[in-house]
Amino acid sequence: MKITVVGAGNVGATLAQRLIEKDFADIVLVDVIEGIPQGKALDMRQSANVIGFTHQITGSNSYETTAGSDIVVVTAGIARKPGMSRDELVGINARIVREVIEKSIALSPHAVFVIVSNPVDAMTYLALKVSKLPRNRVFGLSGVLDGGRLAAFIAEELAVNAPEVTPCVMGEHGSSMVVYPRFTIVGGKPLSELVDEAKQKALAERTVNGGAEIVAIMKTSSAFYAPSASVAHMVTAVATDSGAMMNCAACLEGEYGLSDVVIGVPVKLGRAGIRKIIELPLNAEELAALKRSAEAVSKTIAALPK
Ligand code: NAD
Repeated sequence: MKITVVGAGNVGATLAQRLIEKDFADIVLVDVIEGIPQGKALDMRQSANVIGFTHQITGSNSYETTAGSDIVVVTAGIARKPGMSRDELVGINARIVREVIEKSIALSPHAVFVIVSNPVDAMTYLALKVSKLPRNRVFGLSGVLDGGRLAAFIAEELAVNAPEVTPCVMGEHGSSMVVYPRFTIVGGKPLSELVDEAKQKALAERTVNGGAEIVAIMKTSSAFYAPSASVAHMVTAVATDSGAMMNCAACLEGEYGLSDVVIGVPVKLGRAGIRKIIELPLNAEELAALKRSAEAVSKTIAALPK
């Protein structure tokens, strides 16, 4: 198995480290900055002896070494600064994502593509159009990370362990994302039965602002530990053909009554990418919130540079 990670910045390099330490694939790290992917890959190679991994990790400024990748993860682009929304990144990141997809697909025509660059729903849509691949092979990071944030806040609030939470966050990876308390399960019970509406709202708000909270604290960087862990979780499900269910940014073609838009929904992941999109039995209010979120993404998609 060969995995390419494009973008050797905070998310990409940390993801490469997490993946090489799992030791199930060779990793190629690519970036435009001369020396950075090569240096980071060399640094990680020198940990093989103490960590005990046997696969290869290499860094490059060109794509030749990525040829024949099974999975390509796109983290290239710029990240948010304090006070910025993800949508403000659309112009510059669209140009970067287009270039990365064109160059990678030419050499890895059979790969599954996982998009991380923000605004991720619109970038996943763009990657799908540029690659001309079927929708099962191009999807993005959203709900695994947003759900991880919700689980962390629930763990704090209810004094439970985070792994006891099965979170459910869908829609845009942005200000219109939707937290579903009826489908968020804590120790076997829905969150909606465990805390009152005011508390549910507070947990949802903190989740929506989970990324901005970190940017505001760190100032010079956005989040990357939970994001890289979340992508590693998605990539592992693909690599091992596990069929695990998790929420990802996927292109809808009729599911939830929506089409030609990418938003976060529950999917089952396997070797071919998305095996199946799961349609939860949302009530009218829950479905309306998802549709509002899809409308917000459609506006960003419409603003993509032609
Ligand atoms: P970063 O600035 O640390 O790293 C980005 C890297 O991309 C840099 O090393 C840069 O040189 C590289 N790059 C730029 N243009 C490139 C190109 N054309 N080809 C190859 N590499 C190129 O940023 P980061 O914190 O790693 O975040 C990366 C992206 O992921 C950002 O857009 C960020 O908003 C996004 N992100 C998304 C999620 C999510 O949930 N979807 C979570 C975290 C971060």
